[in-house]
Amino acid sequence: MVFNLPRILIPIEAALGETRVAATPETVKKLISIGFKVSIQQGAGALAGFLDDSYFNAGADSFSDAGEDSYQNVDLVLCVNSPSEDFLSKLKPRTLLVGLLAPYGNQTLANNLEKGELSALSLELLPRISRAQAADALSSQANIAGYKAVLLGASALDRYFPMLMTAAGTVQPAKVVVLGAGVAGLQAVATAKRLGAVVYVSDIRPAVKEQVESLGGRFIEPPEVKDEPSGSAVYANQVSQAFLASQRKQLVSQLAEADVAICTAQVPGKKAPRLIDEEMLDQMRVGAVVVDLAVAQGGNCEGTRPGETILRKGVKLIGASDLPCTIPNHASSLYARNLFALISPLINDGHLVLDAEDELIKGALISKDGLIRQNQLMNSGGLN
Ligand code: NAD
Repeated sequence: MVFNLPRILIPIEAALGETRVAATPETVKKLISIGFKVSIQQGAGALAGFLDDSYFNAGADSFSDAGEDSYQNVDLVLCVNSPSEDFLSKLKPRTLLVGLLAPYGNQTLANNLEKGELSALSLELLPRISRAQAADALSSQANIAGYKAVLLGASALDRYFPMLMTAAGTVQPAKVVVLGAGVAGLQAVATAKRLGAVVYVSDIRPAVKEQVESLGGRFIEPPEVKDEPSGSAVYANQVSQAFLASQRKQLVSQLAEADVAICTAQVPGKKAPRLIDEEMLDQMRVGAVVVDLAVAQGGNCEGTRPGETILRKGVKLIGASDLPCTIPNHASSLYARNLFALISPLINDGHLVLDAEDELIKGALISKDGLIRQNQLMNSGGLN
């Protein structure tokens, strides 16, 4: 598949609460140096601290959407979230869309791509191979979420994190329990340790034990349930209800002593495992805090709601669904570099060549010229 004289459009993100942008002046300069033209929608980077002039100084031009023609000159759209149906309907066939497109169960997106005969790469689906690391937007954003979750927990807590020896006596360190030791969880462990907390960690993949311990965390071994698969070295499998029940039983005493619980346990494309139920919350001390990063996937903790902080019998439940948006400058800088790493190998002699057989592209390609390649995943009817 070949694109001529590729022009990239960087749109304003329309999703409510979104503050990030898909390109920065740094990546615009680099994109232009390898043969792209870049157009920026007015104010696209403003919420992330990148003003229009900084993009123009880097060589971008201003995108005017006054005439339909302007969309017809675009070959590639770099975005954070998928643009609206109206936006997509203005693009010419074969335009390539690249972003965090939330593909699981996203029938609407599949229909729009099909209707507009668009191609699309969804960063959530990049295979986790070493060649893809520089483009791994899930990791760059999860890292931010893990860090910020601990800061939120610490500032909502009614206690210190570190152990302190003061003239008025000794203050014991906070106990933090991290559920899920993927990218966000490990960053949460590192951040909580830096603040001086004692950190306990639960994950069902035994492979992460060493990583947890190397950061100074204490690993809670998963319960032994016969024939229960724990998943690959990279992703967990969805576990049975019986397994989750024994896991919750195991966590009761840990949570009863916890000051802060950081919930990051997830299984790609599935509902997040329920690791804290009402009874466990009843055991937590007044003043304790739960920060649930999995809230948008149904939540690891009963009762959390996206974007809300709920006081439940003295325990604060924070539904932290959009933490990367709270650090938009660095979140955008890293995300924009992820996109550059993915896109830059695709340009050849001024042409953008999308090799659908390349392992990296193949994994992330959800639509090629409107032909949906991940029908099962996109039409699955959502998380279950
Ligand atoms: P994720 O967001 O899908 O899940 C977060 C964590 O939740 C995982 O560690 C998972 O095992 C855990 N989990 C699932 N069910 C659980 C349960 N019932 N109880 C407790 N924990 C549960 O995963 P992620 O953070 O995106 O990444 C997962 C792994 O991939 C990490 O170990 C990371 O180091 C690795 N990774 C590899 C590459 C690469 O090789 N290129 C790139 C990025 C990440």
